[in-house]
Amino acid sequence: MSACVRSFTPALFILALCHVTLAQDTSTPSGLNALSEVELSQVSQQDPNPLGEKALAIRPEQWKHGETDHFVYHFVHSYVATPVSVEAEFHYRVVAKELERDQPAGDTKSHIYIFERPEDWQQFQVFGKLEPWTGGIQSAGSLFILRNPAYKFAGNVLGHEIAHLILHRFYAEGIPCWLNEGFAQYVSKGAHASYQRARGYIAKPHSQAIASEELIPLAKLMAMTHPPSDNVETFYDESERLVRFLAFTDKRNFLAVLDALGRHQPFEASILRIYAGSFASLAALEQRFRDYAAKDFGTTLQQADDG
Ligand SMILES: [Zn+2]
Repeated sequence: MSACVRSFTPALFILALCHVTLAQDTSTPSGLNALSEVELSQVSQQDPNPLGEKALAIRPEQWKHGETDHFVYHFVHSYVATPVSVEAEFHYRVVAKELERDQPAGDTKSHIYIFERPEDWQQFQVFGKLEPWTGGIQSAGSLFILRNPAYKFAGNVLGHEIAHLILHRFYAEGIPCWLNEGFAQYVSKGAHASYQRARGYIAKPHSQAIASEELIPLAKLMAMTHPPSDNVETFYDESERLVRFLAFTDKRNFLAVLDALGRHQPFEASILRIYAGSFASLAALEQRFRDYAAKDFGTTLQQADDG
């Protein structure tokens, strides 16, 4: 009998270990603040976006609902939605701090729809345009994503999409594409690094350097209404670098430019007025930006951090 117990003990121990590992994989980071499920009719705000209705009509019995301070979630499994909600609120705080603005309590919440089955996602995709960078769909302030419970979102993808949602809250009439994408990349790279650091990982924001000959001329970049399909990577990298360049040159001026472009004022006139002390002309700005864009900024940051 005792021999039997002894021979079973290691197996039980391994089972116990497996149980702990599984529990960790499916629970929330803190284990306490799991996203609680509420009836759709009990959610504090309904989504006026017709795409939301289309999403919830796909296998309607699968959808559950929940909300946090700034977002409403529509999801299939709470163990998938909970980490998304923790990350979304984290990114909200980072973006609001960067924009030096905050939504008043009880203000409009953005809706996030988390699909889990690729076949449902395929069915939904005909209704919206996929963002080439993240594979998510943004529409009128709502976000639709496919999340496989077997793996987490890679890198800064969720932060990037959350940044768009918050920009839409503050600039409902829209901002230029380069600024929207550039800011989303800029803020989410930094946020992803701090999110990793807060969880004990060594991480530094990395901004991609661009060779001068590959740069899209600023006038052309400003005119783009969506990322160019033949030059997606340069478009995102350059937009991020331009936002970073303007914000690092003068943060307060950058926020003033954002407000001006959010009110649909022209780029050149706005930037020359707001950055009057820094750039005499658009050509002068473009020249300084070219030099800045080509610098290996990731290395510079690391040296600054280490020093
Ligand atoms: Zn984007």
